Amino acid sequence: MKSTTRKVDSRKQIALVAHDHCKSELVRWVKENKEALAQHSLFATGTTGSLLSKETGLTITSLMSGPMGGDQQLGAMICEKKIDVLIFFWDPLSAVPHDPDVKALLRIAAVWNIPVAINRASAGYLITSPNMSQEVEIEVPDYDAYLAERI
Ligand code: PGA
Repeated sequence: MKSTTRKVDSRKQIALVAHDHCKSELVRWVKENKEALAQHSLFATGTTGSLLSKETGLTITSLMSGPMGGDQQLGAMICEKKIDVLIFFWDPLSAVPHDPDVKALLRIAAVWNIPVAINRASAGYLITSPNMSQEVEIEVPDYDAYLAERI
């Protein structure tokens, strides 16, 4: 597929999601990185966002709860270029009822080439990247070219 570039502002739009058994780990990680995260616009699925706002005092836009459609809302935002970074502590040891939505969210993040962290280690690398605090260009699918080829 042809690609083009997209400018990503120095203030990133970050999505935060954690499955139930991983929520305390995400809360701890967000507390540890509160100063860095406060420089960005934060979004989260319903329960994760409410918990993080309460525990850290950060301003977070909460969408629907994951099993009720929150993962799909985030996926739509990624397509619309309204999410630049996904921090998603998904649970590798428990089944969730919305597994198709989880897969869809990870898939659409791959399609639109946004950085994804799935655990504390990868989230640590991401948040300390110099790219987090500067404008960057990322490669994205050239949607107009994609459509033109199909019609
Ligand atoms: P929650 O959803 O933040 O509402 O728990 C997260 C998820 O399960 O994807």
